[in-house]
Amino acid sequence: MGRAPVTRIMNDPAEFVPQALAGFVAAHGDIVRAVDGGVVRAAPGPRGSVAVVIGGGSGHYPAFAGVVGPGFASAAVCGNIFTSPSAGQAYRVAKAAHRGGGVLFSYGNYAGDVLHFGEAQERLRDEGVDVRTVLCTDDIASAPADQVEKRRGIAGDFTVFKIAGAAAERGDDLDTVERLARRANDRTRTLGVAFDGCIFPGAEDPLFTVPEGMMSIGLGIHGEPGIRDVPVTSSAELARTLVDALLADVPADRGDRAAVIVNGLGTVKYEELFVLYGDVAALLAEAGIAIVQPEVGELVTSLDMAGASVTLFWLDDELEPLWAAPAYTAAYRKGAVSDLVREGTDDGAEADGAGDEDEAPAAEASVWSRAAAERAVGYLAAVRATLHENEGELGRIDAIAGDGDHGVGMRNGIDAACGAANPAAGLARMLADAGDAWSEKAGGTSGALWAAALRALGRAIDDETREPRDLVGAGAEAVLATITERGGAAVGDKTMVDALDPYVRVLTERLAEGDRIPAALATAARAASDAAAATTALRPALGRARPLAEKSLGHPDAGATSLALIADTIAEHAREDTP
Ligand code: ADP
Ligand code: MG
Repeated sequence: MGRAPVTRIMNDPAEFVPQALAGFVAAHGDIVRAVDGGVVRAAPGPRGSVAVVIGGGSGHYPAFAGVVGPGFASAAVCGNIFTSPSAGQAYRVAKAAHRGGGVLFSYGNYAGDVLHFGEAQERLRDEGVDVRTVLCTDDIASAPADQVEKRRGIAGDFTVFKIAGAAAERGDDLDTVERLARRANDRTRTLGVAFDGCIFPGAEDPLFTVPEGMMSIGLGIHGEPGIRDVPVTSSAELARTLVDALLADVPADRGDRAAVIVNGLGTVKYEELFVLYGDVAALLAEAGIAIVQPEVGELVTSLDMAGASVTLFWLDDELEPLWAAPAYTAAYRKGAVSDLVREGTDDGAEADGAGDEDEAPAAEASVWSRAAAERAVGYLAAVRATLHENEGELGRIDAIAGDGDHGVGMRNGIDAACGAANPAAGLARMLADAGDAWSEKAGGTSGALWAAALRALGRAIDDETREPRDLVGAGAEAVLATITERGGAAVGDKTMVDALDPYVRVLTERLAEGDRIPAALATAARAASDAAAATTALRPALGRARPLAEKSLGHPDAGATSLALIADTIAEHAREDTP
């Protein structure tokens, strides 16, 4: 078997995503318009209608920008490859798309997206915009049926977005659009198979490989390998495997009418998809199920992954007309759309201009706070060097059971944080800005958590009335509290919390015992490293790696590893820095 294709057409790999998006907008300027953070419909929906805002990482075309248009999504927030967009992006795109009828956020159930879109939702609500969220959880391989809330979203995103978009187009109010989208998700199930992994633009190796002659059942769409490797079979047998599993996992009142999607992940010929569809259709007919307006093609891809998935969307009287309704988007067109395509007179989004979200100018930072910020810049720079050095290794660890972006994400995050850190703003403001920049450029679960941590750290330690050793302890506690509160992870879940918790415990203990700050930091860093190494024995209970718990066993957690590296760097820098 030949090696999977690499990316052949590109300029600078770092510019791949923005350049692809710019080309997409150039090609489809009649349908979409670029905004900061993503794209919105060129011809906005009627005033007062609900804005359906979808999104996620890039690398999934036509998800998500390709299904923006009349009858489908109002806007798409576009993150980096396989990385959730930032809260700022989601906020700005939603603002640009808002028509006065409220916003429905809908996206796949991944921790990074949940954190970033969740924060955008809070910000919009603070401004009086009604926002709801419907997560897509169609992948039956990613968690058992009694833990649907843990399931991730894969090709079934498409049905949820389609239903929400059609309802919004019809003029349904936000309550109704939300209810129908939720219903669509409850009635959508997907299972897929991968034959080979995908390769990041600019990378040489795939995120995972499938052993020769095998196929991996239960693939993800971020280069997560399947759950279980089995020998390659005929299409008929593959169809049987997938359909049997899907028919064993159905909504309570499934009825006997279903839309079917046979989705290609990026490197499977359309003809192969049709062979599979034929076999799937025969099995469904045997089971007495009427297939309604099936789709066969690439609807949610994973770069150049060789794989396919089958989705069953169990229709009812309410959902079927919405599934059948016309839509006009770059990648997907259906029915007679003339009524839908209005003149592209953008009378301006409902919301006002962007860039005014900042609070009143902050009070002048004190001399102490500015000096402390200068010192903090030294720590950021040291951490930056460490993360650059370890980028490859962190990516490799994350690729074992996650999506391989942890190294790039941490590097992007710290680069942005260092770029945004202005000591003249004072310690708290500077770290808050650094955090925002981190979140903006890194995306991902760890991006959201590190951003929140920096903000919390700034608030906790910008206080000249307290002793330095008290500030160190308070800062560490604030970081731990914020990360556990935001991420919801506990010790043992195999996340960065496994390293952070002992770090903070040992640090506060050593400080209380009277150790000097650099010594306490060094002892705590050793505890963090030991704890990060010990995550090797754990099965992930949260995050992207959870569905691949068995693969993760025997390897450390990526986020815990980077945290330990950072702890080490801080200790080392403190030794030189402390007068
Ligand atoms: P993503 O998982 O979105 O691709 P990254 O790869 O940057 O984000 O980060 C992955 C790391 O994030 C994991 O190794 C884990 O340590 C950490 N993580 C994931 N979910 C959580 C959570 N809920 N709380 C704390 N840390 C988490
Ligand atoms: Mg990752």
